[in-house]
Amino acid sequence: MVNRIKCYLPLLFLSTYSNEEKITLPNGRISNVYTGLFINNEFVDSVDRKVFETINPATGKVITSVAEASDKDVDLAVEAAANAFNDVWNHVDGKERGRLLNKLADLMERDLEELAALETLDNGKPFYSAKTYDLPSAISCYRYFAGWCDKIHGKVIETQHDKFCYTRREPFGVCSAIIPWNYPLEMQAWKMAPTLACGNTIVFKPSELTPLTALKVAALCKEAGFPKGVVNVLSGFGPIVGAAIASHMKINKVSFTGSNAVGKSILKASADSNLKNVSLELGGKSPNIIFADSDLDQAVKWAHMGIFYDSGQCCCAGSRVYVEDSIYDKFINKFKEHALNIKIGDPFHKDTYQGPQISLQQFNKIMSHIETGKKEGATLLIGGERHGEQGYFIKPTIFTNVNEEMTIMQEEIFGPVVSVSKFKTIEEVIKKAHLTKYGLAAAVFTKDITRAIKISNELKAGTVWVNCYNLVDANTPFGGYKESGIGRELGKYALDQYTQVKTVQINLGIQM
Ligand code: NAP
Ligand code: MG
Repeated sequence: MVNRIKCYLPLLFLSTYSNEEKITLPNGRISNVYTGLFINNEFVDSVDRKVFETINPATGKVITSVAEASDKDVDLAVEAAANAFNDVWNHVDGKERGRLLNKLADLMERDLEELAALETLDNGKPFYSAKTYDLPSAISCYRYFAGWCDKIHGKVIETQHDKFCYTRREPFGVCSAIIPWNYPLEMQAWKMAPTLACGNTIVFKPSELTPLTALKVAALCKEAGFPKGVVNVLSGFGPIVGAAIASHMKINKVSFTGSNAVGKSILKASADSNLKNVSLELGGKSPNIIFADSDLDQAVKWAHMGIFYDSGQCCCAGSRVYVEDSIYDKFINKFKEHALNIKIGDPFHKDTYQGPQISLQQFNKIMSHIETGKKEGATLLIGGERHGEQGYFIKPTIFTNVNEEMTIMQEEIFGPVVSVSKFKTIEEVIKKAHLTKYGLAAAVFTKDITRAIKISNELKAGTVWVNCYNLVDANTPFGGYKESGIGRELGKYALDQYTQVKTVQINLGIQM
């Protein structure tokens, strides 16, 4: 770190602690950080007055402590959200909801540098990426759904002569979202923007590893003018807060992004409680297929970004690269050279491409996958070890000589680890591409448009990129086939996730 971080740790043993504090960020900016639970437009202590530490993964040091919610706080937040829905929000028209979402986007633009720096501090992603990609993308998501607010409507359905039938798209009421730590501001936007645009209120749970920007956005929601109780943010632990949300009888919908195991537990909790609507965006093990006729330099660069961007902590990461055998040697040499040139280190340094992994736990999990890869007979071409002395950095890692039975070809590693293998025919590579339980994304590199379209149509994946990787826009749907999830986020499709359809049948004269 260029500058030392000054932390003002809350006084844990006092009966209340300050829910707001000033932190000097490593880039010299002062940030007002909120550390309470956000319920009814106020930052409050948790009922149990418990707190937990949030860590800077680049140093392993504590940034500050935030309130730790329990099921009691979930009850309070749900009550706030239900009152806000019934008394106010359900009567606020689309134009006004859109104005508020646009106002929030304006405030995020005003505070862009501060939000980006806070994201980098808490998550470890390069400041450049946070500022250039995460923030603009989150802001554009709020603006995109702001535009939908007054365009959500049903249909008139012609049935019989003496009947008038129409549908309405109505909000669920109290919704909830549980998100992971890899894109805290973006994931918050992907969930909150459509939830609010569709007229729901929300109880939002960020990851315990990255609570700070979600709480900051909560403060901006209040400043934007959202009525109290419309947006509630609860920091805390998944098995406590997340589980209480998943099984809550008064939450009508949960949107979740994270691991498959937790996703399945949420679906079970819904079945065992009130059958709340559940949408899931889960993991991936995405194949990236590179044909001999592709623009090799471009394919190398995209494949590189496809796996190493965000330290490999991306659900759609292209972690299985398949290269046509006639260009395999050329590809692997260039790909390796690129990986060896990655600037890894202080995420606030302007040249850094790769920051730390999010936590010691994730660091250990990734290192253990690397060990398994070696034990199961894959060749470790480069990397496979820690970078630096502090923080949770892992060198970009490439495995070759892999096969589909290996653990590293089946399990989501969620780190800067890629397996590269060869193929001879289209049939062979499509078969291999499908040999996992996942189906989140895939990519194809070729100049042959017919082949590109045929393969894109064949691949069992929610997104297929052709001659590119990781391109996602607020207006393009995103989600998984197979065990990669249920439902689609973003785009017009997201409106289906956050509304329920009512059919109204009016008798114009049918006699019994
Ligand atoms: P995770 O456990 O699924 O966490 C995601 C969110 O769910 C967090 O907010 C978490 O809270 C919460 N949660 C945890 N246990 C819960 C429970 N029993 N009920 C309800 N909510 C619960 O994911 P992770 O531990 O952060 O990462 C583990 C693996 O998941 C990664 O290695 C990766 O393979 C995968 N992952 C996928 C994505 C994706 O975008 N699809 C994102 C992140 C991780 P806490 O923060 O308190 O744990
Ligand atoms: Mg953190």
